[in-house]
Parts: sequence; C-alpha cells; structure tokens
Amino acid sequence: KNGYLYNEEDPELVCVIGGDGTFLSAVHLFLNKLDKVMFAAINTGNLGFFSDYTKDEAEQFVRDIVEDNKNIERKKLLEIDINGNKYYAINEMRVENPVKTQEIDVYINEEKLETCHCTGISVCTQTGSTAYNRSLKGAVVESGLEIMEITEITSVHHTYFRSLGVPLVLSGNNKIKLESVFEKNAVVCYDREYLPVLGNSTITCTLSDKEVNIAHYRPISYISRLYHLF
Ligand code: NAP
Repeated sequence: KNGYLYNEEDPELVCVIGGDGTFLSAVHLFLNKLDKVMFAAINTGNLGFFSDYTKDEAEQFVRDIVEDNKNIERKKLLEIDINGNKYYAINEMRVENPVKTQEIDVYINEEKLETCHCTGISVCTQTGSTAYNRSLKGAVVESGLEIMEITEITSVHHTYFRSLGVPLVLSGNNKIKLESVFEKNAVVCYDREYLPVLGNSTITCTLSDKEVNIAHYRPISYISRLYHLF
C-alpha cells in the first residue's frame, strides 16, 4: 500500500523478528552490505537489547516504519584477525579451551599486559557487554561508548600464576593481541559463529570501521532496557 517492495537480495531495511540472537544472525547475513542496510527488530519474547517492539506491537511497528520518524544508532563491529584471516562480531570474540588450561599472552598495542592461565579470554564491544561478558561478571557499558572490554574466563590464581583477574575496559582505538600455542579443543567463538584454533596463533581485536545501523522509530533509553531486561 505504501510502495514498499520486498527485496531479499538488496534490502534497505531488514526487519528482524525473534530474540537478540536472531538479530545477530541477521547482521551476519548482510555483513558485506552493512553500509547500505538498516535493521529494526520485533522481539518475540520481552523487549530485547536490539528491539524496540514486542510481538503484540507488530502493527505499531509497521505504522512507525511507514511514518519514518527514526533515529539511526550506529554500532561498530569488533574486527578479529586470526592468523591473518578476518572475522567480525557485534557482541564478542571468545577464545576458549574447555578441556585444557591455556597460557595466553595478552598485549595492548604491543605492550604486554599479562600472561593468563585460563580457560579463555573474552573481548567484547559495548553491545556485547550485556551478553556473555555479563555472565563472566564483566562490566555493563552504557550504549554510545566505543570501547573494548577484556574479561578472563576462569583464570588460575595462585603463587605461580597471576593475572589481572578483573575486567579491563579500553577505549576503542586500542589493539588487543592474544598469543598462545592453542591445544586440541580450543575454539574461537564470535557471536553465534565458531571455528577451531590450533597451535601457535595470534588473535588481534580492534574496533572495525564496519558499523551496524539500527533504526529506532521510538526512543527507549538504555537504563530502561536494563531495568526491564535484568
Ligand atoms: P543465543 O541463544 O542466541 O543467545 C544466548 C542469550 O544471550 C539469549 O538469551 C540472547 O537473547 C542473549 N543475548 C544475545 N546478545 C545479547 C546482548 N547483546 N545483550 C544481552 N543479551 C544478549 O546464543 P548463541 O547463539 O550461543 O550466541 C549468541 C550470543 O549469545 C553470543 O554472542 C553470546 O554473547 C550470548 N551467549 C551468552 C551466554 C551466557 O550469557 N552465558 C551463553 C551463550 C551465548 P535472546 O533470548 O533475546 O536471543
């Protein structure tokens, strides 16, 4: 009725219906077209971190899209370089070995921060601070801040091994480098994706120029999301 066309190949607006996890999948589907695409979401449960409407408000969602009175929120992706290959995440990258303790050297801009004996390390964006990072007791970070947060996953602390042991929030212009000889069963998880990592490896994380554009047709404050979701 309003002249909108359904175009799966080259959409301007992607409407996501599901949870925050579904939103992550939608963004990964259009990773190579992020500069041309906006995302808006209806959550089929409660509100989510990416959605402004519940399923009972679907008609309002459509009306608001047609009215087109929106704010665009831009969220930078995490760029993950694993031995020269690039991957992207909205929430986080985790390198973990659930079977064998890993010894991971952590550098910030080539300066050594620590050697961490741990199950793994998570590096999240502001967006991911409420996701896996929060379960690791990482800090929740207000939306709009461009940061990366390093959180250790079950690190070993005793007379011989020590590491920071608490989350470290860095401004987004830093480069985080992780080096280790990864043993069998080590994996890198990024958002809903994962791949194995084995042997001598270098993983770097930076904030990418790639951004997700989220269309907000009605304002919901970050504090209100925290209040309603946690
Ligand atoms: P998933 O089922 O898609 O998501 C697991 C849970 O994390 C769901 O409840 C999801 O919300 C929520 N979530 C996703 N992104 C979020 C965000 N930015 N802020 C707050 N909550 C968020 O699981 P998956 O496919 O394995 O992994 C997708 C993401 O889920 C990962 O990036 C990771 O951060 C997160 N995750 C968290 C845990 C944990 O906290 N222990 C475990 C596994 C995965 P919805 O229910 O609305 O989809």
